Amino acid sequence: MNVRKLVVVLGDQLDRASAAFDDFDPKRDRVWMAEVHEESTHVWSHQARIVLFLSAMRHFRDELREERRWKVEYTALTTGTLAEALTKDVARLNPAQLVMVQPGDYRVQQSLLAALPNLQILPDRHFLSTAEDFAKHAEGRKQLRMEYFYREMRRRYAVLMEGDKPTGGDWNYDSDNREAFGKRGPGLLPQAEDFPPDKITQDVMREVRGHFPKHPGELEHFNWPVTPVDARRSLNDFITHRLPKYGLYQDAMWTDEPYLYHARIASALNLKLLNPREVIAAAEEAYRHGQAPLAAVEGFIRQILGWREYVRGIYWHYMPDYADHNALDAHASLPAFYWTGDTDMECLRQAIGQTLRHGYAHHIQRLMVTGLYSLLLGVEPREIHQWYLAVYVDAVEWVELPNTIGMSQFADGGIMASKPYAASGKYIDRMSNYCGNCRYNPADAVGDQACPFTTLYWDFLMRNEERLRRVPRMEMQLRNIQRLSGERKLEITKRASLLREPQ
Ligand code: SF4
Repeated sequence: MNVRKLVVVLGDQLDRASAAFDDFDPKRDRVWMAEVHEESTHVWSHQARIVLFLSAMRHFRDELREERRWKVEYTALTTGTLAEALTKDVARLNPAQLVMVQPGDYRVQQSLLAALPNLQILPDRHFLSTAEDFAKHAEGRKQLRMEYFYREMRRRYAVLMEGDKPTGGDWNYDSDNREAFGKRGPGLLPQAEDFPPDKITQDVMREVRGHFPKHPGELEHFNWPVTPVDARRSLNDFITHRLPKYGLYQDAMWTDEPYLYHARIASALNLKLLNPREVIAAAEEAYRHGQAPLAAVEGFIRQILGWREYVRGIYWHYMPDYADHNALDAHASLPAFYWTGDTDMECLRQAIGQTLRHGYAHHIQRLMVTGLYSLLLGVEPREIHQWYLAVYVDAVEWVELPNTIGMSQFADGGIMASKPYAASGKYIDRMSNYCGNCRYNPADAVGDQACPFTTLYWDFLMRNEERLRRVPRMEMQLRNIQRLSGERKLEITKRASLLREPQ
């Protein structure tokens, strides 16, 4: 019998309630999925990232086949591209209709449409806003700050609202958040929820080791949810044990503690194993029942309802040009130690080491350690973007690219952020215990003990002084350059050039 509709499902589209399944007829329709090398090699993907995607895809396939009794055309690990694999199967199955929801990657969307112009792309209703909503929000605005978009979303979905007023009277409680742990450290942390690899995941791990033996990262510690049931377990763990202190310690870092009070749900959300509405409702409920303070709950909900939707809006609004932005004219190469963690800078050794072990680092390690070093060093934005996309299990381009190009590297010249996140080693010292275990001194910009972050911070300000004069919020930081003597400036420049030599 001829296939009526072929529904294409990609690795980050494992939404059991996808719009592409709306009138699915198990007798006449089929689902199409494929594991192609291109999706694991277009950036040098961490082995755990590949395993997560493939294992979650296989669990999804089996669920459709066994529970819904749907027919799934599934190609296991094969060379080539998605467009090649799909073109071949479309020729074989000759479906009357070919549909999918919008991919999370502009590159994939373009290549599929180029190969199969009949492919119908539906809006992805996993998200709470559309590209059209964002375009409307952007219309006539000189700057696209997340805060205003977020307020619109709070009103629209009546989240943490009392009538037309935000719960508690303020929209944002960050002034109550973001403390460091202090000298005694985080103390006893909640036990992390475990997701030991089942048979499917173990098989995928074996195959990934065989197909991608030279790819970065370890698999020994693979511990990620690959089904909606596990994803919900991860969400419950966060809401119950971590959310109450999430706000307070969201920017804090500590040696050998990769998760602290952070949620480990980003990968499940981005693969669509979890629905953001459920996540937001669970957090709001925790506040309403007195289980978590408003500052923590608001800060967390802002990430899901505000930031996540906003960065997706930015991505589709500005692609494909957005990926080419390089407003600070940065052209240094990414240091080789980003792929090994082999550096004597303790903060980077910690952040990269856990990234290679788990495919994970929390937000502030990404922004204010690995991202900050790349910004200060002047790494070509495309290179650091490709690194982030490769090494984090939750990385899909729609979310990773704006976070890197816009927020972390200021390469978009201020479309997203009102100023570059530039800081010296003193910031890292304030927010972590890393510096106490490091051979460098965060207070020194020159000399044998000079912290590379601190040297590069001053060098960054000096190199970019002209450009940054156009950024009002940089005024105070730039004023500090004038306090440096000519001789000190020269010493900093010399030391920064050494740091910029290939390492
Ligand atoms: Fe990082 Fe500098 Fe602190 Fe060392 S001294 S941990 S390099 S910030």
